Amino acid sequence: MISMAFNAFSENTMVLHDGSGGAIVCDPGMSTPEEWDRFERELAGRCWVPRAVLLTHAHLDHVLGCAGLYDRYGLRPRVHEADHVTYAMAPRAAELYGVPMAPLPDLDSEPLVDGSQLVFGDLHLTVRWTPGHAPGHVVLVEEGGVNVVGGDVLFRGSVGRTDLPGGDAPTLAKSIETVLYALSDDRVVWPGHGPTTTIGQEKATNPFVNGAGTGMMQG
Ligand SMILES: [Zn+2]
Ligand SMILES: [Zn+2]
Repeated sequence: MISMAFNAFSENTMVLHDGSGGAIVCDPGMSTPEEWDRFERELAGRCWVPRAVLLTHAHLDHVLGCAGLYDRYGLRPRVHEADHVTYAMAPRAAELYGVPMAPLPDLDSEPLVDGSQLVFGDLHLTVRWTPGHAPGHVVLVEEGGVNVVGGDVLFRGSVGRTDLPGGDAPTLAKSIETVLYALSDDRVVWPGHGPTTTIGQEKATNPFVNGAGTGMMQG
């Protein structure tokens, strides 16, 4: 699994390997020719070819590479149904932020469904719905491994913002407590921004939601 920070929002684009040359691209943020060069070089160096595109959620910074992945590989992004509206609003968000964005491809006909397992070769990912930052936000939990594709729910020492459309702070805290903090302490969370962390570290030290139940978002 590799992570590359792209675009004006320093969004982490994650790529997971399916064990037989396939690359599962999560939250593609490539936005310039230079970023596309880096993305394609990193994959080519590993002999990986994109085979699927998954979105933790459809905020602008997480979808900027979707058009290019469709043009180059014919891949349509998969997202939770509750974030279809976020995806539809992304071009408007791009206008607001003054970010150039090619028209987005239609979504894949198969949404990401809470509790379902995605199988790509040797890679098994369980989809868990974690609303609060975006209404259709999901995290992807690697089975038989320790990785979690975390998106913008839980960061090292912080949590996702809840002031965007469909965001809600108590819902976000509940998602963290009931989904992420239910995972084992050694789980490695790969967030949409900033460095990786572990569930154990955040439970012990996260000032917003912590395992001791004294988080600012609680009560
Ligand atoms: Zn976001
Ligand atoms: Zn983000």
